Amino acid sequence: MIGVVVVSHSFSLARAAVGLAGEMVQGRAVRVEVAAGLDEHTFGTDAVAVAEAIAAADSGDGVLVLMDLGSAVLSAELAVDLLDSPHEVRLCAAPLVEGLVAAVVSAAGGAGLDEVAAEASDALSGKQSQLGAAVSADDDAPTGPAVRATFVVANEHGLHARPAARLVTALRGYDADVRLRNLSTGTGPVSGRSLSRIAGLGVRAGQEVEATATGPEAQQAVDGLLALADRQFGESAQEAAGPSLIEAPPSGASTSGPYPASPGIGIGPARHLSAPEFEPPDHPGGPPAAERRRLDAAIAKARNSIRAEADRASRARDEATTGIFEAHLLLLDDDELSEAIGERIAAGQAAATAWATVFGSAAADLAQLPDDYQRARAEDLRAVRDQVLAELLGRGAGISTRPGVLVATELTPAQVAGLDPELVTGMVLAQGSPTAHSAIIARSKGIPALVGAGSRVLEIPEGTTVIVDGGAGVLEIDPDPGLLGEFATRAAELRQHRHAARAAAAQPAIMRDHTVIDVAANVGSVAEAVAAARAGADLAGLVRTEFLFLDRDRAPTVDEQEQVYREIAAAFGGRRIILRTLDVGGDKPLPYLPRPVEANPFLGVRGIRFTLAHPGLFRDQLRAIARVAADHPVGVMFPMVTALDEVRAGRALLEEVAPQGLSVDLGLMVEVPATAARASAFADHVDFLSIGTNDLTQYALAAERGNDTLAALADPLDPGVLRLIDMTCRGAGDTPVHVCGELAADPGAVPILLGLGVTELSVAPPAVPEIKAAVRASDMKTCTALAARALRCPSAAEVRRLRA
Ligand code: PEP
Ligand code: MG
Repeated sequence: MIGVVVVSHSFSLARAAVGLAGEMVQGRAVRVEVAAGLDEHTFGTDAVAVAEAIAAADSGDGVLVLMDLGSAVLSAELAVDLLDSPHEVRLCAAPLVEGLVAAVVSAAGGAGLDEVAAEASDALSGKQSQLGAAVSADDDAPTGPAVRATFVVANEHGLHARPAARLVTALRGYDADVRLRNLSTGTGPVSGRSLSRIAGLGVRAGQEVEATATGPEAQQAVDGLLALADRQFGESAQEAAGPSLIEAPPSGASTSGPYPASPGIGIGPARHLSAPEFEPPDHPGGPPAAERRRLDAAIAKARNSIRAEADRASRARDEATTGIFEAHLLLLDDDELSEAIGERIAAGQAAATAWATVFGSAAADLAQLPDDYQRARAEDLRAVRDQVLAELLGRGAGISTRPGVLVATELTPAQVAGLDPELVTGMVLAQGSPTAHSAIIARSKGIPALVGAGSRVLEIPEGTTVIVDGGAGVLEIDPDPGLLGEFATRAAELRQHRHAARAAAAQPAIMRDHTVIDVAANVGSVAEAVAAARAGADLAGLVRTEFLFLDRDRAPTVDEQEQVYREIAAAFGGRRIILRTLDVGGDKPLPYLPRPVEANPFLGVRGIRFTLAHPGLFRDQLRAIARVAADHPVGVMFPMVTALDEVRAGRALLEEVAPQGLSVDLGLMVEVPATAARASAFADHVDFLSIGTNDLTQYALAAERGNDTLAALADPLDPGVLRLIDMTCRGAGDTPVHVCGELAADPGAVPILLGLGVTELSVAPPAVPEIKAAVRASDMKTCTALAARALRCPSAAEVRRLRA
């Protein structure tokens, strides 16, 4: 497929243009690379960066380069000279934004370099015709027997960019030449493969279009086109409107959950996720300029989290939910509302009051309307109002905090992170899977949780008593007094067992045969580091540094990073911490860095692939880590390693920024099955290996970790996964092997992991005492025999029976 490179003086401009183009192809994979700005904030272009972007975009079919002004063109020309690429690289004079959109749409449809370049070059014609110039009909009208049909465009805004993009993408799938004519205005015919030409037809709602197709699949192309038109090109009320709450709708996909996601027993009244009720301040605001700045910052934060939600939904191919969040983004920027808010702030109102009043009254107006659809939009206004208010009033993710068991369709990692475990005694999610990041955070907060419970849980009446057994995967709704008493007794026993384990948590974990096992903690914040040290963690086995990079507008500086890493190191008081370098991509997008449009982000540019593609960001992080390593025992590990060259490149960057002679243990995460299979090749180049069983499981079993319908399949105790762990331990030789995936926090899995040869277990802080207790209860001989039997089991269920 053709790759596309955007060269611009401005990083933000390029990022926004790539985002816009990505919208047109709805998750189809087109490799778009960006070389823009001297850094994120400084205007300029750099030929070496352009050359790197071209190399990254080149999959062998050729690369189209689009540029903005002046030196962008010079840098691109120089880059082509520098590269001396064996494949064709074409510099295109098209206008940047329109050209990029046209190029991405045609590349997504599989067009060759000539066609993509022609599409981009013709990208202004739609706008020109709309502003007065007549659209010329394509001269090379088809010959041969033709299939004709007409359809009326029912889309509210006619055949605008997004439906036109869908039409082009669909028609490119057929071996047919399709011409379109706007019968209502007599414009055309134009090629159905050209987004810009179709835009030039200026088709409005209610207008009739004629399609004429020739070629071997003419009939199929026309049938496909009519079906698409019938569905309003993906914008029919059913597809586009969807529900109007922030919560994602029930997937409708069958689920045989609930699945255990975080151990413990939680009992309490069901509490459905509800929008928080905020009381905006009634006192006057501060200086208008300061109030405006606060509001802008709150809007920016809300925009980032809504954008992340939209991306998540879009990756899950959930178009209805994506549409909701897209609409919310538009509401954030609504000119009319923003003008009214601006006037109130200028008149001395506090930002929160102005925002709440204007959005509140717009929602109230909509709620009066007779039309159901318009009335439902009031919910969207209220959702956006509350999200920005939550930021303005410093209430974080804004989840209801009434005491009880929280029931919701799905929660974002940020929402779970904001829960108060004192109030939320349990959590039941209709969707989600045990290895998704939300579940991981629930475990780290010690909140008993069930996921993938199915949409029926959303119908549990508010306040009904529910029991959540997050270890066994049991949900009891409105239990009789006998059952309630039974669970209450078990919960008390569990508390007692935990109490005993906690009392011994600070002691080392020594097996019966005297083998010492380090039980470390996985932490994702300074607060968690403090909690982990308190919980008795010997070390930090995985610091998920991405917490510092997510939910913000720009990357943290080296100083900021250094300070936070130092605080984490201080929490562990001189004991080793392993900082994992930034692991984004997959289900953790970074809002301020452009990502290529990827059909399968989990198989795309994530982990070390991402950081190597952003060497400036990577160097900064390694620089901050090196500073801390100067006076604290620190390990660094790279996530998602697949190739030895990645380790070499990462090490080279570390050596480049670290002072000579600095001692830093370097390790890699084993998350890719091929890496496990070649562990011996990697072991010679690193100081330790750390198995990330969450990702290793998803890649070994081809079952996405966040996909609730596959939760039963994605079991880390599957003998196939255990064999990969076994291969890693055997391949590693004397190099220590840690496990930092969630499997390490399963007390039942501990003897198997120890028997396979794992030397360190790293778990969520609340699990430390219990995992230490499990280690102390084991002896190596029994563990080795148990592991050998587990490897021979035919299924995860058999492994579970074995250890029971
Ligand atoms: C893993 O994949 O097991 C892991 C520990 O990394 P994360 O869960 O952060 O992807
Ligand atoms: Mg991982």
